[in-house]
Amino acid sequence: MAPIRIAVIGVGKIARDQHLPVLAGNPDFVLAALVSRSDPNMGVPWFPTLDDLLASDIGVDAVALCTPTEVRYELAARAMRHGLNCLLEKPPAATLSEFEALRAVADETGATLFVAWHSRHAACVDQARQWLAGRQIVSAQITWREDVRQWHPEQDWIWEPEGFGVFDPGSNALSIATRILPRPIFLTAATLQVPANRNAPIAAAMTFSDGHGATITMDIDWRQIGPQSWDIAVETDAGTLLLANGGANLALPGDSRVFGEAVYGGLRAEYEGLYARFAALIGAGQSEADIAPLRHVADAFLRGRREIVAAFDD
Ligand code: NAP
Repeated sequence: MAPIRIAVIGVGKIARDQHLPVLAGNPDFVLAALVSRSDPNMGVPWFPTLDDLLASDIGVDAVALCTPTEVRYELAARAMRHGLNCLLEKPPAATLSEFEALRAVADETGATLFVAWHSRHAACVDQARQWLAGRQIVSAQITWREDVRQWHPEQDWIWEPEGFGVFDPGSNALSIATRILPRPIFLTAATLQVPANRNAPIAAAMTFSDGHGATITMDIDWRQIGPQSWDIAVETDAGTLLLANGGANLALPGDSRVFGEAVYGGLRAEYEGLYARFAALIGAGQSEADIAPLRHVADAFLRGRREIVAAFDD
């Protein structure tokens, strides 16, 4: 099969750190163009807007949308209406309704729509899901504590309502939790801490139920200095499972081994998994568009109490 000609739209941190290097190493894809507000000077055809690319004679089969959610809907809808398959960085859209509108465009056009929850491609997520399947869940604790200055340096958009604040990484945790827990969960309480000078939370505490007696707590915080924590502990009738390092490592009760990556390699393996999946979906003419993590984020904004906390500057 000929390689998929892909354009990357939005050449920011995640495009440079992961999308472009991973695409360069994947023979199923060829980077056909970059869409960026300024010329990234990378030796690849560059267009300032998607419309300029669509009006050009460059052939493209797919786009990867690496912009903030604020501008995703217009870009994704336009791309799919021009017959292009679409990978949406997470979180996939600014609102649930906007996402449903995109799903409808995918259905109408037959384009592949892929919601790229990269954390679901971490090394041990599937193994954790399999181990938990059929077990009785007693409780779970999700701890996601990271340094916003390291991961989102000077990204003003992330502090705006469409940026979701700490729920941007929080949606990663939720993408894993909704993948590994055997039953659907729903939010029962939340507190959102919003810096006095910002429009989005810097930390949140949440409680969920699975409707069958299990309580799931979630602690997400962007003020972490030093070692970062991306851990999910699940207490079951057969002992406690610990999924650590954002899903890269797994410890199971009664087993002294630690599964997964010997040395934590960051997001690279996840993005390799994402692009393998995107190629497979395009080949099969299918979409993968699970919105559950974004739904939980929306629920937090619906049900959560706001606390104003100390101002935060980069
Ligand atoms: P970023 O560094 O701010 O890059 C976003 C890029 O989008 C900008 O550089 C810009 O590229 C383009 N853009 C178009 N319209 C924009 C607008 N109105 N405001 C700001 N940028 C605009 O952000 P990022 O960290 O790469 O994040 C992008 C997406 O990837 C987010 O959804 C984020 O959640 C997700 N993500 C980020 C990480 C991470 O570690 N940072 C990890 C996984 C996923 P041009 O200047 O080229 O037009």
